[in-house]
Amino acid sequence: RVTFSPVHRRKESSHAGVIAVLQDVTDQEKLEAARREFVANVSHELRTPLTTIKSYTEALEDGALDERALAERFIGVIRNETQRMIRLVSDLLHLSRLDSSEATLRKQRTDVLELLEDTADRFYVQMKQKHIECTIDLQPGVGSVWIDRDQIDQVLDNLVSNALKYTIEGGSITLGAHSAVDEDLLAIRIQDTGIGIPKQDLHRIFERFYRVDKARSRNMGGTGLGLSIAQEIVLAHNGTIELDSELDQGTTVTVWLPLHEEGSVEA
Ligand code: ADP
Repeated sequence: RVTFSPVHRRKESSHAGVIAVLQDVTDQEKLEAARREFVANVSHELRTPLTTIKSYTEALEDGALDERALAERFIGVIRNETQRMIRLVSDLLHLSRLDSSEATLRKQRTDVLELLEDTADRFYVQMKQKHIECTIDLQPGVGSVWIDRDQIDQVLDNLVSNALKYTIEGGSITLGAHSAVDEDLLAIRIQDTGIGIPKQDLHRIFERFYRVDKARSRNMGGTGLGLSIAQEIVLAHNGTIELDSELDQGTTVTVWLPLHEEGSVEA
């Protein structure tokens, strides 16, 4: 849609006339709608745990406190909801830093094998608890890549924690890497044998707060922001992120990063 507004009439000129401003307001309206939706989502996501906390606190006041086993369960719920809210606020702060371009990437040469092994180590206990086998699959010859280590650790943490959340006991997760030397790119792959994502949801999966199954995600402690954050960080590295999934078969996320882009880059 285009607006037309006469903004200026000049009397002194012999050619009195009208200057027209043509402005496409569609983009601006879309942005405004997206902003409103985001605020509504944030409010809803914060209100849900707060409502739970309130009702469990009231139940404790109303007598549950006298039954020790029940009280412990209720306090457990309150603790989990509080932790989820803390995670949500940290994720939002992280996103807003990425949005405001405050974040400057501090790139350093990083050994790819070490990057994957350290990631697997951070999830060792959770994988063991769920009897999930984790394999590292590195193409021979893949050496190092220039990345902001903290930020890419965050990307890998988000992707592996999803793989872990959405894979049932006894499944497996592969962390792989190979390079496309011709194109000077490194591909990091996180593959799971989990529940997968229905085809109709795939195109929305990187949107903030989009989840296939809200209840399942919340129960798993998810915030709906993990993939959005991962995508922002990868884009700041001039990379791309792809997700392939087959329902009930599993999901593969591939992160493509420039292999040799050195130095600090504005995020
Ligand atoms: P969440 O905190 O809900 O996990 P994400 O942004 O990380 O949020 O992911 C968005 C949604 O994408 C999830 O709620 C889930 O439905 C789906 N998803 C992400 N990764 C996987 C995966 N490895 N397997 C199945 N579903 C996934």
